[in-house]
Amino acid sequence: MRIVVTVKFVPDLQSQRSFTDGTVTRTAEDGTMNELDENAVEAALQLRESLPEGEGEVYAVTVGGADAVAAVRKALQLGVDHAVHVSDESIAGSDVFGTARVLAAAVHQIEKDGPVDLVITGMAALDGLTSMLPTALAAELDIAQLTLASSLTVADGTATIERHMADAHETVTAPLPALVSVTDEANKPRYPNFKLIMAARSKPVTTWSLSDIGVDPVQVGAMASRTTVIDASPRPPRQNRVTVTDKGDGGTQLAAFLVERGLA
Ligand SMILES: Cc1cc2nc3c(=O)[nH]c(=O)nc-3n(C[C@H](O)[C@H](O)[C@H](O)COP(=O)(O)OP(=O)(O)OC[C@H]3O[C@@H](n4cnc5c(N)ncnc54)[C@H](O)[C@@H]3O)c2cc1C
Repeated sequence: MRIVVTVKFVPDLQSQRSFTDGTVTRTAEDGTMNELDENAVEAALQLRESLPEGEGEVYAVTVGGADAVAAVRKALQLGVDHAVHVSDESIAGSDVFGTARVLAAAVHQIEKDGPVDLVITGMAALDGLTSMLPTALAAELDIAQLTLASSLTVADGTATIERHMADAHETVTAPLPALVSVTDEANKPRYPNFKLIMAARSKPVTTWSLSDIGVDPVQVGAMASRTTVIDASPRPPRQNRVTVTDKGDGGTQLAAFLVERGLA
């Protein structure tokens, strides 16, 4: 079984984020692999490990600027077999449809060495947070999509997921090839151990440009985006904050504060 797992390079959630021309500034110093993609990598690794030795192969693919290579390097440390970084100046400013088009072309490029049975994505990227990429990618690839999986099994050419919703618990199946987006409930991602970190250092990362994967630059990038960021600005600092200094009467002060405003 050949599995492609998508991993996005995102700004570290703990870092101070900034914008350039209305889009998030992405630099290696504070960037990392999207945390929710660790669940996607883990799902792919668990499937590979459930197969006899040599019958499973996992590719990690990222689309992004030069710094985004850090995302697939992290996936290598976690244990994927191959890493692909699609990077091209013309991709800058792509919206979800452009990003999906590039990822789909990368999957097709991988298929030149053999069929891809499964594409696994995270449930959301912690910067863009649209959760639209999985659906857009499945549409580009023209394969079934099983989204928001809290568990995933594959048997007899069929993928089966469970999806927990507010008022329902669904079991959904699709024949392979299929795309599955997994939630953070799907598994507990592993930590890279020292052996894997050392092994990852010698594993190559394949870098493809748009021409390598047969994508016309006019179909992606800012000019092809169906959405436009009109303005972006940092959230203004919060106002009217009251700091209670506890000198032994902190609880009383808090209670008085709440009573005064009719909140208690
Ligand atoms: C006008 C506009 C300009 C933009 N300009 C830029 C830009 O210059 N640079 C930039 O990086 N982004 C840019 N973006 C954002 C970018 O297009 C989105 O982040 C991307 O389409 C994915 O959407 P998302 O982040 O909401 O992912 P979601 O749909 O929330 O992500 C779900 C899953 O999809 C996968 N995934 C998502 N994105 C990638 C990726 N790039 N590589 C591999 N896997 C992925 C991950 O597995 C992730 O868990 C721009 C968006 C707009 C609207």
